[in-house]
Amino acid sequence: MIVSEEQRIRVMEGDWSPLSVGRHIVDGGLQEDPFYVMDVGEVVARYHTWRELMPRVEPFYAVKCNDDKLLVSTLAALGTGFDCASKAEIELVTSIGVRPERIIFANPAKMASHIKYSARVGVDTMTFDSETELMKIKQHMPRAQLVVRIRCDAAAAQCPLGIKFGCDPVTEAPRLLKLAAVLGLEVIGVSFHVGSGTQETGVYLRAIQYSRALFSLAANVGHANMRLLDIGGGFPGSLHSDIREVSQVINGALDTYFSDRSVRVIAEPGRYFAAAAYTLFAMVHATREVSQKDEEGIEQSHTMYFINDGVYGSFNCVLYDHQHVVAETIEPKCEKPQPCSVWGPSCDGLDCVLPNTFLPPLITGEWLMFRDMGAYTLPVASAFNGFPVPKVRAVIDSSVWSALKDLWPLSESHFCRGDPMTGPQTVDQSMLPSLSDTPSPSPSHSPA
Ligand code: PLP
Repeated sequence: MIVSEEQRIRVMEGDWSPLSVGRHIVDGGLQEDPFYVMDVGEVVARYHTWRELMPRVEPFYAVKCNDDKLLVSTLAALGTGFDCASKAEIELVTSIGVRPERIIFANPAKMASHIKYSARVGVDTMTFDSETELMKIKQHMPRAQLVVRIRCDAAAAQCPLGIKFGCDPVTEAPRLLKLAAVLGLEVIGVSFHVGSGTQETGVYLRAIQYSRALFSLAANVGHANMRLLDIGGGFPGSLHSDIREVSQVINGALDTYFSDRSVRVIAEPGRYFAAAAYTLFAMVHATREVSQKDEEGIEQSHTMYFINDGVYGSFNCVLYDHQHVVAETIEPKCEKPQPCSVWGPSCDGLDCVLPNTFLPPLITGEWLMFRDMGAYTLPVASAFNGFPVPKVRAVIDSSVWSALKDLWPLSESHFCRGDPMTGPQTVDQSMLPSLSDTPSPSPSHSPA
């Protein structure tokens, strides 16, 4: 099999970082397109942190956040479950060998054909939040195991979701639970999503309290085997974020309201696993000096930098995900940062990455680095105006590789001594789709 450079995972030894890998790739001046450096080890580390801090909560990765096959395959090898929102996402996850029991179809408004597909492949667990969804499920998959999605919004979140999904836990959910029972449908649990990029941790306590009340009510209206609590997503994902505080709130709430260990608890983290693993590198290909009046009406010079990725590409996250991205130079600079703006490559005035920032003076051909770019970027990016979506260059530290390689069914022949520029060994990433449904190495966890 012929494997392109981009498909190879570099197994790194010694001191390295995504920055040093990025520098290496652009050294020599041949690289012109933007690219990501994906650190597989960051995903593995986050998985272990999660298991350590919330041992009772099984992560079901939300595929919508970033459907990069390498990320999905890594999580599959570690033993997570998956939250899929469509037929295509279910196809992706099952195509790498994940069993359907490890998938929740967590879209409360599904297309009939997707429900039928779900029934065919054995993805039995799915969410709902309306009467019409119950009717549809009754028609196409009456044996589904249903999870009622309730609304409980954080006081502040990067992307609130309650405006679209989740029934009111007090007024609507009881009625829906009764209707499901009348229709002969089985409800097995409650789910919620407090909002993506949640800025309030206490909301998980409120949502778990509502869920508890609904577990009791559901049992009274005929759902005798309530056994699943799905606490959704909302967890922070940037390199400097921490899930310690939120995990304490969740663990405490579970101990209080779901002390019965027969209730299985899952979550649907997306951003948490994806964001920090991907570092984007983009090149300045044009600059323009302009003068602008400041607040006091004084003329100030300002540099516009044009880079080869913009809001139609990776930086769609600025528009859709309300992200605040930070540009860093990849080489140390002694010059003082100057007022400037950073623009994408398309011929569209909307294509502005950073309208007002400060960077040391840059010339064309210099590269900028943007960390924490793995969440809600790649799956949405387009090649609008002819500018390609960045390719992913994956790296893994040799120590992480040693621990993980037995979970990936790659024989020694799938990696080889690499050239010194790219690390000592390279792994054929095109083999990853055939990853099997292998259990996690973590002693505290067995796959869903
Ligand atoms: N689950 C559902 C149903 C979602 O809609 C989303 C994001 O929109 C997620 C999980 C992932 O959320 P997050 O990235 O905040 O963890």
